[in-house]
Amino acid sequence: MSKRVLKNGFIYRGGKFLPGSILIDNRSISAISDGEIIAPDAEISDLSGAWVMPGFEDAHTHPAGRARTLKELDLRNKDITWTEATEIIRNKAQQTPIGEFVVCHGWNAEKWNVNRSELDRLSSDRGIFMINISYHGGMLNSCALKILKRDDVSLEHSNGFVSELEYQKVFIATSPNMEAYMRFIPEYHKRMFALGIVAAHDMNVATLEQLTAYGRLDEAGQLKMRTFIYLNPCLFDKGKDLTKYISHKGKMMEVRGLKLFLDGAIGTHTAALTSDYSDGHGAGHIRTNYDECARLISKAAGLGLQDIAMHCIGDAGVALAVKLFEDLRDKYSGKIKSWRFEHFELPDARAIDSLKHGGGIASMQPNFSWDALNYAKSLGDRVWKINPLKQILSAGVSLVFGSDDMPSGPIEGIRWATSLAPSETQRLTEEESVAAYTHSPALITGAGASRGKIEKGFEANLAVFAENPLDKQSDHKVSQLWIHGKKVFDQIESNP
Ligand SMILES: [Zn+2]
Repeated sequence: MSKRVLKNGFIYRGGKFLPGSILIDNRSISAISDGEIIAPDAEISDLSGAWVMPGFEDAHTHPAGRARTLKELDLRNKDITWTEATEIIRNKAQQTPIGEFVVCHGWNAEKWNVNRSELDRLSSDRGIFMINISYHGGMLNSCALKILKRDDVSLEHSNGFVSELEYQKVFIATSPNMEAYMRFIPEYHKRMFALGIVAAHDMNVATLEQLTAYGRLDEAGQLKMRTFIYLNPCLFDKGKDLTKYISHKGKMMEVRGLKLFLDGAIGTHTAALTSDYSDGHGAGHIRTNYDECARLISKAAGLGLQDIAMHCIGDAGVALAVKLFEDLRDKYSGKIKSWRFEHFELPDARAIDSLKHGGGIASMQPNFSWDALNYAKSLGDRVWKINPLKQILSAGVSLVFGSDDMPSGPIEGIRWATSLAPSETQRLTEEESVAAYTHSPALITGAGASRGKIEKGFEANLAVFAENPLDKQSDHKVSQLWIHGKKVFDQIESNP
């Protein structure tokens, strides 16, 4: 049976929850009523007063890059001391074959004072790679440096700390194989379903194994999450293996664009600022310079990629992105559809104006508004300029939200954009925030008429909550998630 009525819910429509029922025919919503829907041939599901929102589209996240956490040590968001963490790492090292890597996600440098000799105490014959929570830096033990040297991964520094390009080299060198990704990407999607996410913009597919796993999962009908891929330029020399997937026309996966890292992260003092960090770490640095960016953008256009996504956090990083956008937009107007500014954390009025006039997209992570609370030491007064969401939206710039795979997900992000926002320039209305996490990302991938709203003709992508998720007091847990009219997650079934 392909028809189904979801009755007796509060349906999010036009910016508010209204009582009603939804008729799903095959993959789409075919009717909505504020009363009952009579459809004799339909299966009936009683929502019993649950709250229904459009499924979220996460415009900046990393399912492939984080899928490996399912196989490696994941200490992100675990509130433990370094002593407790060392126990866990030591245990994992003992289970790891000699000469191989223990990879540990979630090193918070503010809390854990980790250095090479500290890691050497944990293992002398297994490599240890601690990944900073920002995913822009990491720490290696001596054995790790030896293994990398053996495998011809050249690193300039030998004190164990790696950041940006060198960090990326290690991240790729320790990356799992294709079979592992085929297993762990769908597994990771289940976690995203539990957060109400139905579509993901994977903002840094950096290995052929990740790309091939996505492609094969899609071909086998095993990719349940609508996925838009942004490629790391290190894949540009992969020839046919790459172009095959750029032209891939699957049901669920589409290779959309190039991801460029213009600078780093505030937490590792690598976001590029126009003046020094307040706690004396220089001014960060530009990771990919203007000429190199221009070369890669030309390559991307030649390969048939449609979007350019530029990671830019510090004001100097943002200024470089704006310059590229202004200089090259017309040149590639027939080929590049969207210019996206990822993070865009410290834009000035000039940058916002440029996006407004040229149609640039601000792709931001409202849950990073907490940076303003955490980075006062490194940024001084500049913390109050982080994430000026209101200013950006009021200027008429297209704004989309992503989680950057902060495990708390979209509802928490919406709260940071509304009730939790530390300053007035960050605060949006509920309706504006929900749009940035649902319909606006769908618009920029060309699905504005079919995804991201609960309306007739739209895909039946629904996140169901037992309590009003936008209410500050609610536990905001997703109880069910429906994609294309099929239930892909049920809280009761997953926690029997
Ligand atoms: Zn990211």
